[in-house]
Amino acid sequence: MRYISTRGQAPTLDFEQAMLTGLARDGGLYLPEAIQQMDDIASLEGLAYEEAALRVIKPFLGESFSDDELTRAIDAAYAGFGHVARAPLRQLAPGHHLLELFHGPTLAFKDFAMQLIGQLFQIALKRSGQRITIVGATSGDTGSAAIEAFRGLDNVDVFILYPHGRVSEVQRRQMTTPENENVHALALDGHFDDCQARLKDLFNDHAFRDEVGLAGVNSINWARVLAQVVYYFTAAVSLGAPHRAVDFTVPTGNFGDILAGLVAKRMGLPIGRLVIATNQNDILHRALTTGEYRTGKVAPSISPSMDIQVSSNFERALFWAYDGDAAAVRQLMEELRQGGFTISQGALQALREDFVSGRASEAETTAMIRTIREETGEILCPHSAVGAKVARDHLREGVPMVTLATAHPAKFPDAVEQATGIRPDLPPHMAGLFDKPERSSRVENDAAALKSLIRERRTV
Ligand SMILES: *Cc1c(COP(=O)(O)O)cnc(C)c1O
Repeated sequence: MRYISTRGQAPTLDFEQAMLTGLARDGGLYLPEAIQQMDDIASLEGLAYEEAALRVIKPFLGESFSDDELTRAIDAAYAGFGHVARAPLRQLAPGHHLLELFHGPTLAFKDFAMQLIGQLFQIALKRSGQRITIVGATSGDTGSAAIEAFRGLDNVDVFILYPHGRVSEVQRRQMTTPENENVHALALDGHFDDCQARLKDLFNDHAFRDEVGLAGVNSINWARVLAQVVYYFTAAVSLGAPHRAVDFTVPTGNFGDILAGLVAKRMGLPIGRLVIATNQNDILHRALTTGEYRTGKVAPSISPSMDIQVSSNFERALFWAYDGDAAAVRQLMEELRQGGFTISQGALQALREDFVSGRASEAETTAMIRTIREETGEILCPHSAVGAKVARDHLREGVPMVTLATAHPAKFPDAVEQATGIRPDLPPHMAGLFDKPERSSRVENDAAALKSLIRERRTV
């Protein structure tokens, strides 16, 4: 399996190289040259999550990892999850189901991908003896998931940039309390989009990139998207696929999680609609509705992991919507630097064949947490509530809807308490979080300052 860049000017790589690299050298995102159909989808029924993961992921790896290595990596990745089903489905109402993706060690869906790539990185680095510096940008949940997956590993330093003052206290403490020396939490003066932009600056400085062995584990990393494809299959199959279609609603920020749904669909899973659910930062909803992809100012919300104006992974969907025309994608991304672009009629039509969209305001999100609690007793995190609200606007007779529950409510206790009067407890394994000392460094919104800090702090 060969991987190509959405911008067409970076070397073609195999799976392992694409995973270790993250962002392509031309600024683009790696994608498989072709997506193979998955036959015998029906045979996934009744399998353990790990077995289903092996079947879904394996065809994308080519020669990079042996079956035995992949099996061990998958087993180790999900062993620490707090639910034996890994991604259990729960019924919210007739025809509406919740896919609980928050049973991993940091209580957000990001653990599904990060735990797996932590294992795969370890195998690859052991084999090559290479040393790397992982730098990631986070709106809150990626950072802790990355730290949890890479802390204490040999040959790796992990630096996480988060927007100072704009992540929840639980999210911050998950990043600042691990004691491992190879963990570095950096509070950047800016928004998540600034963190993401500075990260791109580092990757686009090829000399620096080679000097420190820069590796990316942000949601632009293809291996992360791939790991997330699995739960679309397990959920859909348990609701009757491939014999019937299933719709999914996905609370969306950087477009990674929902892109995994598109990959599943391209592999042959009968997904009817992929519903993009945004909070008040609704660039994707506006883009789908009007064809205009224009960035505005980030408005901080109670679902902070979705407070994003530039959805990096959308570039992959655009690449497919433009029929693999890398020159067209380059042109759009050039225009984006000036504030935005207009999606061509043909591409917009292609996008609308797979996606619909909706948004939830702050008040609607709070109201939905309360409603779901009253109707079912379930307590949703605000991101999942954005999903539930938009999903309810898109229910269709005879087609099951699955809403992805992306985080545990205890990660966002203030918003949940405000809506329900109940302050959700952290699970026992995280009980000491508020007593541990914190360790983090403030950093300016400036690429040069960031580079010198990384050079200075690296341990490998
Ligand atoms: C990251 C995150 C999202 C958004 O996921 P994307 O892949 O960036 O679209 C939604 N909810 C939670 C809780 C998250 O951590």
